[in-house]
Amino acid sequence: MPQPKKVAPVSKKPEGVSKKAPQPFALVRGMRDILPSDQYYWRKCFEVAQGLCDAYGVDRVETPVLEESGLFVRGVGKQTDIVEKEMFSFETTGGEHVTLRPEGTAGISRAYIHHGMLNLSQPVKLWYWSQFFRHEKPQSGRYRQFWQYGVEIIGESDAVVDAQLALMAWRFLKDLGIDAVVRINSIGTAESRANYKSALAAYFRPKRSRLSEDDKKRLLKNPLRLLDSKEPGMAELKAEAPQIVDWLDETSKNHFMRVLEYLDEVGVPYQLDPFLVRGLDYYTQTVFELYDTNETEETAQSALGGGGRYDGLMEILGGRPTPAAGFALGIDRVVSRLKSMPHEQQEKKVDVFVAQLGEAGRKRALALFEEFRLAGIKAAEAFAKNSIKTQMETANRCGARWAIIVGQKEVLDGTAIIRDMDAGTQEIVDGRKVVHEIQKKMAITE
Ligand code: AMP
Repeated sequence: MPQPKKVAPVSKKPEGVSKKAPQPFALVRGMRDILPSDQYYWRKCFEVAQGLCDAYGVDRVETPVLEESGLFVRGVGKQTDIVEKEMFSFETTGGEHVTLRPEGTAGISRAYIHHGMLNLSQPVKLWYWSQFFRHEKPQSGRYRQFWQYGVEIIGESDAVVDAQLALMAWRFLKDLGIDAVVRINSIGTAESRANYKSALAAYFRPKRSRLSEDDKKRLLKNPLRLLDSKEPGMAELKAEAPQIVDWLDETSKNHFMRVLEYLDEVGVPYQLDPFLVRGLDYYTQTVFELYDTNETEETAQSALGGGGRYDGLMEILGGRPTPAAGFALGIDRVVSRLKSMPHEQQEKKVDVFVAQLGEAGRKRALALFEEFRLAGIKAAEAFAKNSIKTQMETANRCGARWAIIVGQKEVLDGTAIIRDMDAGTQEIVDGRKVVHEIQKKMAITE
């Protein structure tokens, strides 16, 4: 029989002289963890979003995090900040050029074309709750990975859709207790915008020396973006600049007037903002953003969300001309607002605490916990703890009204102890009926 080869023992370094201890990993810049203590707010936002979309007949859709880079270059626009500087793009080992999605509309439009949704009854109403990635300078309210809740209504050009979207976005915030105002503008059709861009460039050209380097580039590439500029001194220059409303064609003007009339009708507070253009190329006609009316200090990170009409996007992406509009709300910012507001206590009470003593008791308790769960009774446990005192302390901490105690004796007798946590009284019940007994007690105390 072959003998196993003798292997020289690995020389062990004496304790304490080991290699340098590994350093813990830091977060990648711009990324963050959303910890359990914040989940209450995230869940609340999700539930309000879902409730609203159900009520408005909007179906959920989720598209991939990775898309072909070309989708955003073409869809969002080559000269936008997003495409020029903010995309997380890379080449896969298979040679594909892909990008972590920086926004939701392009991907959803791709999905609409890809799945032939044009053949469905129009408009198609879709919502998403997804993560997006932009390589921006991280600061408060600006992350490199962030969440948006968004709605797109595709296949309808009527102004009522624009108003309904602004209403839904506003209502989402209102239901969460945030009083918001919709800042709104119309950037007209591509043709009316072209004339306006020329007028704007003509206005800013003689003032070129007063512009920042970034704004000088904007003047050359897309003067409309100058209106977006938050550079110091720009507010003064913009005040005298030509306003787009004066350049709108009749159809665009009518469309915009109707959007405002609908908003008046449903009581959504809005402010006309002649300088609102939004940073993305695909917008046409209505554009809007949402701001918290109680926020005193406005920064570039103040907008809670934004949206508008994008009638030309489907065609740019290779689909048939299809009117569409949508909005996206930044959930990281909404949650941060919620956290700064006074809130009711985060209730996390349970009905019963299942306590155990000894191995047999633990086994029975494990099964009993399942029985409570299946009966829809909120139960808590500390199965890994042996001491009954520790378990009772935990039961108190989680606000349990009753504790069920099963030890060796109860398992042998086929019983269980029910302890009233407030009164401190105990009773012995039939182990098979313990769930039923608790249901009876709950019915009495409700
Ligand atoms: P946008 O369409 O780019 O205006 O984005 C819509 C909303 O998403 C913004 O109003 C923000 O609330 C949120 N948002 C956009 N970029 C970020 C980011 N980098 N970090 C956190 N939230 C963001």
